[in-house]
Amino acid sequence: MTCPKCGSTMEPRTLGHAEVARCTSCHGIFLERADLGNLIEAENDWHAGAGIHHTEPLPRITADMTAPPPSKPRAKAYIETLFG
Ligand SMILES: [Zn+2]
Repeated sequence: MTCPKCGSTMEPRTLGHAEVARCTSCHGIFLERADLGNLIEAENDWHAGAGIHHTEPLPRITADMTAPPPSKPRAKAYIETLFG
């Protein structure tokens, strides 16, 4: 198929469990409604999983503590992890 935006060739690509078509020129993504639902579900699952980390016990606060413990950088959304 060709890109509805710029008319370039679109190539198949897998995003998570969804099969999508990506434009080789403008990098636009074309996906079916069902696949969009799958991506949203995966996104929600991803955030639900993130909640597990928030239930970890807090570090003990000690007198010599000068700064909060560093937190690991993390993508804001599951979708972000799919585009590398
Ligand atoms: Zn395009």
